[in-house]
Amino acid sequence: MGEGDQMLKKRMNSVPLNFIRIGDKFWKKHIDLVEHAIIPYQWDAMNDNIPDAESSHCIENFKIAAGDSKGDFYGAVFQDTDVAKWLEAVGCSLAGHPDKELERTADEVINLIGRAQQPDGYINTYFTIREPEGRWSNLTEGHELYTAGHLMEAAVAYYYGTGKRKFVEIMSRFADLICDTFGKDKKLQGYPGHPEIELALIRLYYVTGRKSYLETAKYFVDMRGGEPNYFLEERKQPGYKKIFPEFEGYLPLYSQSHLPVREQKTAEGHAVRAVYLYCAMADLAYEYKAQGLFSACEDLWNNIVQKRMYVTGSIGSSGLLERFTTDYDLPNDCNYSETCASIGLALFGMRMAQITRDAKYVDVVERALYNTMLAGIALDGKSFFYVNPLEVWPDNCLEKTSREHVKSIRQKWFGVACCPPNIARTLASLGQYIYAVNEEGVCVNLFIENDCELRLGGEIYLMRIKSRFPQEHSFILQVTGETALPGLWIRVPSYGKNYQIVCTEEVIGEGQKSGKDAQILGRRVACSIEKGYAHILEDVAGKTLQITFDAPATFVRANPNVRADAGRVCVMRGPLVYALEEVDNGANLEALYVDTKQPLTETYEPELFGGVVTIKAHGKRVEQSQWSESELYGTKPVTLTDTELKLIPYPYWNNRGEGEMCVWIKERL
Ligand SMILES: [Zn+2]
Repeated sequence: MGEGDQMLKKRMNSVPLNFIRIGDKFWKKHIDLVEHAIIPYQWDAMNDNIPDAESSHCIENFKIAAGDSKGDFYGAVFQDTDVAKWLEAVGCSLAGHPDKELERTADEVINLIGRAQQPDGYINTYFTIREPEGRWSNLTEGHELYTAGHLMEAAVAYYYGTGKRKFVEIMSRFADLICDTFGKDKKLQGYPGHPEIELALIRLYYVTGRKSYLETAKYFVDMRGGEPNYFLEERKQPGYKKIFPEFEGYLPLYSQSHLPVREQKTAEGHAVRAVYLYCAMADLAYEYKAQGLFSACEDLWNNIVQKRMYVTGSIGSSGLLERFTTDYDLPNDCNYSETCASIGLALFGMRMAQITRDAKYVDVVERALYNTMLAGIALDGKSFFYVNPLEVWPDNCLEKTSREHVKSIRQKWFGVACCPPNIARTLASLGQYIYAVNEEGVCVNLFIENDCELRLGGEIYLMRIKSRFPQEHSFILQVTGETALPGLWIRVPSYGKNYQIVCTEEVIGEGQKSGKDAQILGRRVACSIEKGYAHILEDVAGKTLQITFDAPATFVRANPNVRADAGRVCVMRGPLVYALEEVDNGANLEALYVDTKQPLTETYEPELFGGVVTIKAHGKRVEQSQWSESELYGTKPVTLTDTELKLIPYPYWNNRGEGEMCVWIKERL
């Protein structure tokens, strides 16, 4: 197969969020937190109204830059991104849940940003207040283009959420300035130290139609990794101001600038930077039909998911520099696995799926969303994991050690918080992942209960999914429309066995049973399997389809090259990874073995975490009682006692107090 043969002529797109209503039992409790807990909390944080929290000052910075207030800038160089991410979450939330009061507050913030905009269009409170002469002089560490990108993404989300264009116009003026500043024949030939503006300019192009935004995004991507290295040269300039101590001895690999992007075959460097860059590469590959660029996306994707990704869909195995390391290096107790990186991986995968209509990408998107993204937020929405280990022993998560970044309890929001608002926007925009559409039809990607209005070639279709996924591996799909849908593809998840689609002809009623208890009546629907989708070959408009598959709790092993997981297994059920917690299994989870020859038992526990399936396994525990406290080493044989192991879904760990947690369990052979 030649390069880029996988690309569709016409890519698929997400359904606008205001056309989707999610009613899903599994997700709704998390999504509701965005509107009721996260957005108000972050608003208070940004205004320094939370008593014991670190000062944010980010709204005040804009007021000072606007001349509304006197004072000095406070915070990190990218402090403005907190405002941007808040506005993006608000935009996504307003699309699904209109709220006049919130919209009024957001409008005021947008007006403030407008007032802080410089006459030439420039926006950045740090450089405006502190270093007006230093603009664009530190692309390595200054985060100017990165910050601009987040503001642009916020403007796009706010436009989609409210229909208001003012923020888009403000950011377009800034985008125009950037397009006039950077380019082959322009004043500056640089590119950002932290990718983000590339994908943001492309999103801004989609809502404004201004080709220069797309071209500048392409310029930034094409320039990256050229010789001599822009960042190494920049750092040699007289007066170059170092900002971050960890950038000493700068590695171009850290910012994916070690090679031109088309020559990159392995995912390297800071994981969040990497996946944000790959998102833009995928968009540009499609827009310019750039086969070489698309092949690079495929190579990078394959390297991640085949060799460098945790079973939980997290990436970045080194705590130092939050970066990728080498193939199969996936340590469980000292990894970084930033929540933002999994969100970026989901965004990259979503783009690849939309460009290729290949469901293999959605399998990874789902894995990242259901496990790592969700683990990032506590059930009450008030604390967050930035780092997502697969094994924790709270006692050894010590400062000034190789595990100082690993936290055994979720952290409160802190000044310049990247992951919490990223989780907020992801939850508020979850609808974008459910379907993919173009004029050829619609793909059902995630099995999340929703009602959706679909506009295809002048026709309106109503899609309805009734689902108790992932607790039950069955869902109902109804399509209503005047005419037949041009095409319908329903994802066949890689873990689903005995997949079948039947037409039940029933009207969906409340309390209708689904899942394995329900009697599946009806006729098999004609379909063919294409790249992980069941392509429906008959007109199903006005009909009710029931899709069922088996995905029982299963032991999963890692490729033996993954040293950290040798001799171990984990348990998965559908997309969910399971974990042992101390509260269920006692201390020292490393002293446990699981008997993989014995069956796993599933129990639905309605009271636990809002209702989840827990899993029990047969196991053994190494006896501790024969060892005295003064004995560190000895020759006595190991004694094992029978024990029952209880596993809960990984995303819910640490919702019942602090304790040990472990995903990969020693296998008793
Ligand atoms: Zn983050």
